[in-house]
Amino acid sequence: MGKRVFNFYAGPATLPYEVIKEASENVLDFMDLGLSIIEISHRSKEFDDVIKKAASDMKDLLNLGDEYSVLFLQGGASLQFAMIPMNFLGEGETADYIDTGRWSSKAIKEAKLFGNVNVVASSSDKNYTYIPDVKTLKFTDGASYVHITSNNTIYGTQFHQFPDTGNIPLVVDMSSDFMCRELDMNRFSLVYAGAQKNVGPAGVTVVIIKRDMLERIKREVPIILKYETHVEKDSLYNTPSVFGVYVIGLVMKWLKKIGGLKEIERINREKAKLLYDAIDDMSDFYRAVVDKDSRSIMNVTFRIVKEELEAKFVEEAKKNGMVGLKGHRSVGGLRASIYNAMSLEGVKTLVEFMKDFARRNG
Ligand SMILES: *Cc1c(COP(=O)(O)O)cnc(C)c1O
Repeated sequence: MGKRVFNFYAGPATLPYEVIKEASENVLDFMDLGLSIIEISHRSKEFDDVIKKAASDMKDLLNLGDEYSVLFLQGGASLQFAMIPMNFLGEGETADYIDTGRWSSKAIKEAKLFGNVNVVASSSDKNYTYIPDVKTLKFTDGASYVHITSNNTIYGTQFHQFPDTGNIPLVVDMSSDFMCRELDMNRFSLVYAGAQKNVGPAGVTVVIIKRDMLERIKREVPIILKYETHVEKDSLYNTPSVFGVYVIGLVMKWLKKIGGLKEIERINREKAKLLYDAIDDMSDFYRAVVDKDSRSIMNVTFRIVKEELEAKFVEEAKKNGMVGLKGHRSVGGLRASIYNAMSLEGVKTLVEFMKDFARRNG
């Protein structure tokens, strides 16, 4: 095997090496069955154990009660943009959205196909470089739900406080910060996340749904797109991403082993601090992009003051074993995605490289 590099891509993203190793062995032979994990039946006893364990470990880690179901769906977070209003936003009704970037905007666009959308706050006035103050928000009376994007992968902002929506269900796109910290999950009615950012490979979308949401279904929707269908069938209405669910199960096992969300949050905060401190300490050379109190601990966006050096930075980082540091094509600049599986060592290596690069080019 070639040398592993540090993977700072925003998604699909880095996974723990021990997870990749165990998965690779089971691609050859799963549990001595003489079968690969990528060829066993989704109706087999062995896979049934895998999917149940992945869901129950996830529930344990998140401290979720029996009133919540964990689903493993397909179609990406992007299908959730459409499924949520299709199920929960009746004609003539209003859903409230907070617009904090490209993914929120996409979610809003889908919702408008089904009902009214009230954008209760937006940070578009400053290029999405901050999270609106959640304490001053006014929600629509009788809104069907409030939708937010907890971490804005492209811009590098993150909600550090959540709005109090009272009786209105709070729906959260947690794709890029799912399971990165301890949160009181009871305040959310529906949480969804494309697995490929923080908990697994591409091809699975995790949906956590409070079961009382099922009483709020507003219209006839295709059976495959009804949450009820997947809750009733435990994500086995049709063939799920067998391999994807299996790898998520391994990631849950890894998270439990290292000490759960409390410990991963501690490590994530340490990694983020190292990186932001480096940027702030070298502010004559690097520049953080977003407001300090909105900074994401998952996606760290920054610029080089002399922007023409950014391409060289990305190139040289790659030569030094660090890939994926180019910012999203819509905003440019630099971005280091430091999800759960990015090691402290990886971040320290990047910080050393940043210091050296600044010294040589300053
Ligand atoms: C990546 C991402 C998406 C889109 O996910 P897909 O699985 O590609 O549909 C949506 N929201 C956020 C916050 C993301 O980071």
